[in-house]
Amino acid sequence: MRKQIAVLPGDGIGQEVVKGAVEILRAIGERFDHQFRFTYGEIGGIALDSTGTPLPDDTIELCKASDAVLLGAVGGPKWDHNPPHLRPEQGLLKIRKELGLYANLRPTSYYASLADSSPLRRDVIEEVDMVIVRELTGGLYFGKPSERTYSNGEEAAVDTLYYERAEMKRVIQQAFELAQKRRQKVTSVDKANVLESSRMWREVAEDVAKNFPNVTLEHMLVDNAAMQLIKNPKQFDVVVTENMFGDILSDEASVLTGSLGMLPSASLSEQGPYLFEPIHGSAPDIKGLNLANPIAMILSAAMMLRISFGMTEEADAVECAVQQVLENGYRTKDIYSFGKNAVTTDEMVEAIKAEILDNGTILHIMGAYA
Ligand code: NAD
Repeated sequence: MRKQIAVLPGDGIGQEVVKGAVEILRAIGERFDHQFRFTYGEIGGIALDSTGTPLPDDTIELCKASDAVLLGAVGGPKWDHNPPHLRPEQGLLKIRKELGLYANLRPTSYYASLADSSPLRRDVIEEVDMVIVRELTGGLYFGKPSERTYSNGEEAAVDTLYYERAEMKRVIQQAFELAQKRRQKVTSVDKANVLESSRMWREVAEDVAKNFPNVTLEHMLVDNAAMQLIKNPKQFDVVVTENMFGDILSDEASVLTGSLGMLPSASLSEQGPYLFEPIHGSAPDIKGLNLANPIAMILSAAMMLRISFGMTEEADAVECAVQQVLENGYRTKDIYSFGKNAVTTDEMVEAIKAEILDNGTILHIMGAYA
């Protein structure tokens, strides 16, 4: 099969982990005889520096002309004091809007070999297998007005939480379709005791549920959901929620797997192409140190193989290789625990690649920080 992949590394560790994911995809291409063509585009701070805009038009065109998009991360202290429209994160919001990426799927699974990397007890996180479906193109991150203002002679600020019924419906529908293929349970998270948008969200969820009689719908307030995720995460199958709640809850869910560096995501639209990115940011604190965990990015590439290209066996090969390498004890710093084999970003990629190509995983690795 031939596939055209737009690659947007972005900033900070985005560059490092994307390089790793591309290497893994090349290995998959070699093993399964596929031709992946990678074309690079700029987004975020790096795009601001070279073009003056966080998402140049040619990057948008490249993405629209591709079969799928791989994105690293954007942002960094260098651009933190830019005016709002010239911040790297605007590039991210704009690509989501331009590609119509309304549903962001964030799976969280338990890795037995990483149980010691999580601050939570093994019996709490054992067998966790859930997906957060986050609405991605509406809510507070997009509503207008969003600005600094003056009121009664005082400086003030406003952001707007705005949703249309159709925007709620399509993402909730996506969650139900997913739940149907899983354990048939949807938890819809909102703040219906306070917010009007949440009350409407609940109504829409009830309406959608009528078309899925085999799927159980429960509603949960977001503050309770934040607690339940830590207290009893096994109760969740598919969680669907609006943009900001989903952003926050999925970072919290990363603690279940041991690190933000483990969680991939897929952003879906009505017509494609879809975009695949880790849930973490550009991690300026470890940028350039070869310490980033590339697994979230590599698992995002596996989601691309499975969802965009229908390459089930290939996606399985990547996921099994990750699992095997973890079982073999390889650990980047974020998931390191005593007695394990400490590796750099590049060494982790090498180990996963070796598993995929089935030429052994015995690497002579010098621990970067052990
Ligand atoms: P972050 O996700 O970049 O980092 C949070 C913490 O997790 C840091 O200590 C970091 O070192 C660690 N971490 C993250 N990914 C890791 C990985 N793969 N391996 C090992 N450790 C990892 O969040 P932040 O520090 O709040 O934000 C930094 C910048 O990233 C900001 O400019 C922010 O706007 C941006 N950001 C971008 C995205 C995105 O591009 N999708 C998402 C979140 C934050």
